Amino acid sequence: MRLRSHKNKYEAIRLSSPVEILRGIGSRRSAALAKLGVFTLEDLLFLLPRRYEDRRFINTLRNIEPGKLQNVIARITQLTIKPNLTQAVIQDDTGKAQAVWFSEKNYLHEEMTLALSGNVENKYSVNSFINPELEIIKSPEQRPSIIGRIIPVYPANADISSKFLGSIIKSLLEYYSRQCIQEFLPEKILKRFGMMSNLEALINIHNPKDRTSFIRARNRLAFEELFLLQTGMLLRRQKFSGDSGNLHAKILKPGKSFHAFMNHLPFRLTDSQRIAIYEILEDLSREKPMNRILQGDVGSGKTLAAFAALLTAADSGTQSALMAPTEILAWQHYNKLIKSLDSLGLKAGFLSGSLGAKERREILNQISTGEINIVIGTHSIFSESVNFHDLSLVIIDEQHRFGVLQRSELISKGSSPHVLAMTATPIPRTLLLSLYGDLDSSRINELPAGRKAIQTIIFNHENFNVLINMIRERVLARHEQIYWVCPLIDENEDSDLTSVYQTYERLTQILPDVKIDALHGRMTPDMKARIMQDFTDNKINILVSTVIIEVGVDVSNASMIVIQDAGNFGLAQLHQLRGRVGRGKAQGVCVLLEEANITPEGKERLNAMQKTSDGFELSEYDLRQRGSGEICGTRQHGINEFRVADLIRDEKILLLARNEARALINQDPKLDSEPLLKHEIFRRLAGSLELAITS
Ligand code: ADP
Ligand code: MG
Repeated sequence: MRLRSHKNKYEAIRLSSPVEILRGIGSRRSAALAKLGVFTLEDLLFLLPRRYEDRRFINTLRNIEPGKLQNVIARITQLTIKPNLTQAVIQDDTGKAQAVWFSEKNYLHEEMTLALSGNVENKYSVNSFINPELEIIKSPEQRPSIIGRIIPVYPANADISSKFLGSIIKSLLEYYSRQCIQEFLPEKILKRFGMMSNLEALINIHNPKDRTSFIRARNRLAFEELFLLQTGMLLRRQKFSGDSGNLHAKILKPGKSFHAFMNHLPFRLTDSQRIAIYEILEDLSREKPMNRILQGDVGSGKTLAAFAALLTAADSGTQSALMAPTEILAWQHYNKLIKSLDSLGLKAGFLSGSLGAKERREILNQISTGEINIVIGTHSIFSESVNFHDLSLVIIDEQHRFGVLQRSELISKGSSPHVLAMTATPIPRTLLLSLYGDLDSSRINELPAGRKAIQTIIFNHENFNVLINMIRERVLARHEQIYWVCPLIDENEDSDLTSVYQTYERLTQILPDVKIDALHGRMTPDMKARIMQDFTDNKINILVSTVIIEVGVDVSNASMIVIQDAGNFGLAQLHQLRGRVGRGKAQGVCVLLEEANITPEGKERLNAMQKTSDGFELSEYDLRQRGSGEICGTRQHGINEFRVADLIRDEKILLLARNEARALINQDPKLDSEPLLKHEIFRRLAGSLELAITS
């Protein structure tokens, strides 16, 4: 099909124009395109082939190789057409063959010349093309389009074929793209690396001449994506750092309370904890704001590093804040910290969305006067009504739960505090670089001494009695505690999944002499806090809960976790849940109770859990199963998956893009010399990078 002109020739063609302006795209096809996520011409241009078929070689009928995909040009010498069958004898200068289609091709005639591409079978010593793709060749000068080149294969669906997509994209590139595609990369970069222009790259990624031009096209587009993002992030940084481009944070030095706290620890620091704390203190002692991520597997003792930093801020006469993703976790941190604070003459405050109005007012007041030194809470710490007296440090626990971009909120909260993010979800280096730009990282890569590896057991309902006996032994004989995690709160008719209350009742019946309680997110904050406290104080033996306890919760006497309908949970979640146990001296056990109708992917996840307890390995596995957007929480924050770049494979390109972006911004901080580049950054990334459109 051909697109000679778009529907209204007075309308300017833009990348943002809807696909409907193209000839041949009516409501049915635009609906089909919408299903593929294609609404605009730009979407169409970036609908990239899923794979390619190399049909460059055009064979002669004499040399046909049966059993393989073959491409030929031949004339029809005999033709039979029936309702469900079309048979043709075809011939070229070298020989004869047959073509068979299981449909009525009533537009074919004898003597027509066809280009054919398809599989060939040899039966009774006749070579037959079976259902080949065909193109009618009208004149000797006409070059076939379905063979003699590399054919892109697009993600098609029932309403729109790959062939149709190929043809509209090709015409779009040939006829209109010069009007709407402009080069925006700096000429110097293009020259220095011998990169293709963007139009050339798009043409070649859709219809590559050969492998080399495909690779060059792909690399150019991957570079472009990463370079735009890196440059955009540097621009954003500047925006938050004011005109001077120089941020100033408070210089913080450890003093009396830091040393008192460290000297009274009931255990020895691990080497990597010591190094991490040292690195953090180094950052805090500088005027340049800390921007560091502390990675360490579940249970490696990150909280301690956080407390050390909070106390350092207090020792320096400033305020600091620790933010956690759940109320339970924030509350736990608060309670642990106040134990150490009392004797130090410092005051901590707890802040969450569910405080009563009066209590909240009082705390807000104490925060604004500086009476409270350390604020611990949920993300409500950064709601508008909270005014700090002198905030110098912000720590974000379980950072991956918050996503990437809320960091900007923190930075806008007053001056320019030091920021420390902590996470147990290991982030591959490439992702770190691409999403956070200049971020320093510390890693706690060992567990405290004496920890035994957690045993992971996969059970199904047939092992239920064995499980109950294990529980009896742990609870009644050894006075250890147990988490039992269920996917639902209440029973639900539409779901086979097990609920907290169902399990609670069942366990209470089976184990009448055991103290069991239930916990879930619909309870009032007070009730949650009370139950967590009872569990911490060993007044509850088995805590039946939703995933509300997933992150951070730390009760060292809990030695076993049972995860019901385990195949339902994601890998990161399972790993986090498992990390709730094995924090004390007792052997930790994680029982993955698989559901009867577990999916193959679910089963694979459980096997992965059993194979390794290394968070890094699991995260890489997860990255392969789900893609990077899910893992870093970027998808819901508007940074789409990259269209071309692949953060695992394109590390080199990423580093190149980063260096080039830095060099450029250093030289020309506002991009005055590159208006097209600047425009492109805003056009593509304004939303996700929260860049206001200013000149
Ligand atoms: P995470 O890194 O998952 O946040 P936590 O900070 O909650 O881990 O620490 C897990 C448990 O290990 C806590 O009970 C903590 O008191 C304990 N812990 C931390 N550091 C050490 C250490 N060096 N030796 C022994 N136990 C430690
Ligand atoms: Mg933690």
